[in-house]
Amino acid sequence: MVSLWSDLRVLARGTYLQYVARIKLLDDAIIRSNEPEEVLTYTYKNHDLGNRFIIPWRKIKGKVRRTAMEKMRGLGISPDCHLKDGLCMKCPCCILFGGTGDVSAAKVGYNLLSRVLGDTFISTDRVDTINSYTANAVDEKSLTTGQALMTLVKAPAETEFRGVITLRDPTKDSAAIVRDSLLRLTRVGASTREWGRCQTTIEGYYLSDQEETSSYELACGEPPSLSADADLQLPSADEAFRSFAEQCESMVREFAGTKKSSAKKEAKGRKKTGPEESEE
Ligand SMILES: [Zn+2]
Repeated sequence: MVSLWSDLRVLARGTYLQYVARIKLLDDAIIRSNEPEEVLTYTYKNHDLGNRFIIPWRKIKGKVRRTAMEKMRGLGISPDCHLKDGLCMKCPCCILFGGTGDVSAAKVGYNLLSRVLGDTFISTDRVDTINSYTANAVDEKSLTTGQALMTLVKAPAETEFRGVITLRDPTKDSAAIVRDSLLRLTRVGASTREWGRCQTTIEGYYLSDQEETSSYELACGEPPSLSADADLQLPSADEAFRSFAEQCESMVREFAGTKKSSAKKEAKGRKKTGPEESEE
């Protein structure tokens, strides 16, 4: 029987808490991309799936992290920690969402792997017609249009997306922080002007010694035996942030003395695709 850990450790212990979440658009959302490889609708080969709207994980992760950081600052914990180059590398958000030491404000000799993993959110219904068009990207300073093209896609209100967020080696505190931050996700979309309102709910969870499901599997059919998140009996977000901040501090103290060993080795090789660089 797998349960939540009571303490925080540096090395992975092979426990995965997976929240199954649903994001419902309350408003039309403009999803914009200026990178050709960033797919916003996808045609699955599986015919039951067909055409779907998708939200890439890094978009969701970036937003969830920002909401977690806002909440944390509100509690007076690491108030100066900020994205992207101002990470403190020792607060609950840095420990949970990761960071690259040498580009952080702290200039530390270690990297932090993200403990929060996710995958692409997939719309629950097929998309019959995709209203996408290509526009000239506007330079934010000169307000002129240049050579760059971007693709705009409008996802209509009431579109629902489902996806899985996985927390490695969850403790009651980290599980509560991730849950609370997810529920705070109230806007998705491209630019600040065009973000659509959304509502995020958690349908339930899996706790296991492996990753039990994925957004793709969810889209293909109902997942078996999902537990209700109320069963986790998590502390309030305020309590969780305060107690987790203390645990983070002692964990960082532990590997501050062994900077070049385990913590760095763990993150080595991931550096180029470090958790920060790909978030939005
Ligand atoms: Zn931080």
